[in-house]
Amino acid sequence: MKPIIGITPDFNPGDREDMGGKEPFYFLRARYTKAIEDAGGIPFILPLMPDRSAWKRIVSQVDGLLITGSGSDLAPETYGETQRYKFKRMSPQRATLELGVSKIAFNADVPMLGICGGMQSINVALGGTLFQDIDSQLDTTILHQLTYSATKTAHAIRIEPRSLLRRIAGKSTIQVNSSHHQSIKDVPSCLTTTAVSPDGVIEAIEAQDKKFLLGVQWHPEFLYEHHPIQKKLFQALIKAARDFSKRKSCQ
Ligand code: MN
Repeated sequence: MKPIIGITPDFNPGDREDMGGKEPFYFLRARYTKAIEDAGGIPFILPLMPDRSAWKRIVSQVDGLLITGSGSDLAPETYGETQRYKFKRMSPQRATLELGVSKIAFNADVPMLGICGGMQSINVALGGTLFQDIDSQLDTTILHQLTYSATKTAHAIRIEPRSLLRRIAGKSTIQVNSSHHQSIKDVPSCLTTTAVSPDGVIEAIEAQDKKFLLGVQWHPEFLYEHHPIQKKLFQALIKAARDFSKRKSCQ
C-alpha cells in the first residue's frame, strides 16, 4: 500500500489577474509531488483551512507530511520578533496551516519532512526562532541564496554522527543546494541540530525521540533525480510513513 503524504501548498491572495479580476490561488511546485510519487508515495495537497479541528482530522488521516519551502518568509511575530529587514511575508493562510499541522503531527509522531522554509516552520511551530536575514545578522562568506539553478549544488554540510540524516546519507559530508536568506537561530529543546554548513548555519534538524522528523534547509526536490542520497531522503520518509501506517492499523 502506498502511503499518503500530506503536502502544504502555497497561497497567492490575488496578485495576478484571472477571469477579469484578482483571484486567490493555491500553488505548489510540481517537483514536490513528483518527488513523493517517485519515492513510492501518494502526494495529497492539503487545504489551507484555519481551524484546528480540521488540522487534527487531516493529520489523523495521512501517513506522513511534507512541509514545503516557500518564496516568502514567516512573519517574525510568530517567533516573538518584529520584522527588521525587507522580505516578503508568507500568507497568513499558509503560515497558520504549516505551524498548526506541524505541531499536531509532532505530538502524534507522524513522519514529517520539512524542506527549506518548511524546516523553519517546524522549528518555529515547536518554539524555535529564525535569523531574519543571514547576510545582515551572520558573519559568513558562503552564499546561501544562490543565483544559479537549484539543480546544482552550492556548499557542503557536515552531518552529525548517530543522526537520522547520517543514517540516510551514509556519510559525514555531502553537497547541497542553497536557496535561503533566512536560517534557524534557536532550536527548541525537543529538536536537535544534525547538520551545519562550514559557516555554522544550521542545515538540518531532527527530533531524536520521534520516529521520523527531519528538516533540511536545502531543496532535495531539485537534486534527487541525479543525486541518489537526495532521493534517499524522500524514500526514508515514505518508508517511515508506511511503517507508521502499519502501526496505526494495529491500534
Ligand atoms: Mn545553505
